[in-house]
Amino acid sequence: MRLNNKVAIVTGAGRGIGKGIALKLAQEGAAVVISDIDINNAKEAAAEIEALGGKALGIQGNIAVRDDVERMFTEALTAFGTVDILVCNAGINRDGMLHKMTQEQWDQVIAVNLTGTFYCVQTAAKLMREKQYGRIINIASASWLGNIGQANYAASKAGVVGLSKTAARELAAKGVTVNAICPGFIETDMTRGVPEKVWDIMIGKIPAGKAGKPEDVANLVAFLASDEASYITSEVINVGGGMIL
Ligand code: NAP
Repeated sequence: MRLNNKVAIVTGAGRGIGKGIALKLAQEGAAVVISDIDINNAKEAAAEIEALGGKALGIQGNIAVRDDVERMFTEALTAFGTVDILVCNAGINRDGMLHKMTQEQWDQVIAVNLTGTFYCVQTAAKLMREKQYGRIINIASASWLGNIGQANYAASKAGVVGLSKTAARELAAKGVTVNAICPGFIETDMTRGVPEKVWDIMIGKIPAGKAGKPEDVANLVAFLASDEASYITSEVINVGGGMIL
């Protein structure tokens, strides 16, 4: 119970890695605000946590809309009184080779993954500077180093790394840590959607020989959110079974 009396917001937590993170933080004692663009999934995930004896609130929010992000923080403050931990997990991919990528594919991914994460981190920074405490954990991707068919996604995640490192430096003296996690290939709806041939190629690139699970990412989030990690900031940490793209 490393996170007793702490309040966390996890974006995109209605399913996939975000849901795994929300469950883990609740298990460690945090009250968790589960924010997702899909309200039904957010409410179901919150109900699951409550059924296990934890504290949770499921709310609807599109991180690409600044008003939604501000409302997310207001609802968290109303329900639980503060926000100690922010996990920016919501993200999308719209893959395509660079020469075929549409303006819409580019704009959508940048709007959610990069601008949406900026809205969340900026709102948290204002609050956490005041309280002189906070943990911000951004979910980037191993793809930030570049990956075929993912110019938009890689650029957005490289942006998240730059944003995280800048926020870390600005907030370090205020008791706020900011770190980025780069999952490799984790089994969720996002990756289950790839053709079988691509799945096999991806597994072939992983020295561990298998895809990761949402819990593998969640375990690192819980550690970075805890007081044990108070001197760790500005880091970019892979969770990828040794995978290098
Ligand atoms: P996922 O299964 O597609 O889940 C993403 C969740 O975010 C869904 O609940 C989705 O809602 C929600 N969401 C999408 N757009 C949103 C928005 N604008 N505002 C709020 N919520 C939104 O994805 P995942 O695999 O769990 O990935 C989670 C994060 O890890 C993403 O940032 C992703 O880029 C990153 N990541 C994943 C992998 C991997 O291998 N899976 C690898 C590297 C990085 P809907 O259900 O309505 O779509």
